[in-house]
Amino acid sequence: MAGEPQSDCLFCKIVAGEIPATVVRETERTLAFRDISPKAPSHVLVIPKVHYPNAAALAAAESEITAELLVEAGEVAADEKIVESGYRLIFNTGAGAGQTIFHAHVHVLGGRPMNENMV
Ligand code: 5GP
Ligand code: ZN
Repeated sequence: MAGEPQSDCLFCKIVAGEIPATVVRETERTLAFRDISPKAPSHVLVIPKVHYPNAAALAAAESEITAELLVEAGEVAADEKIVESGYRLIFNTGAGAGQTIFHAHVHVLGGRPMNENMV
């Protein structure tokens, strides 16, 4: 069922504590942890604890959690001290866009100048 944990989902396993992660923030409904393969000096993933395959599906079903995800992304940026220098939020959606984990997540990237081409 939508929102239920998926046994084959890596991020559901991180939420369940079955796979370790470097957690930097947590709320009742969201978790933020460092990306295992950082693409910038600051690279944190913020996820809802409930399982939806991508950000749009999450937003369609859970508007409050979606808003909380963005609030938490902003708090991560503040904790990482990248607000002033600027940061990028990315929701890869679909394999063709580079999505590899089909549990909604936002990348918080910063700490270096960002490519203006947005690729
Ligand atoms: P996507 O490409 O789906 O937008 O992003 C998935 C991200 O998850 C990638 O940036 C990848 O490095 C990260 N990732 C994959 N496996 C793990 C893991 O086991 N732990 C953590 N912390 N990040 C992971
Ligand atoms: Zn999941």
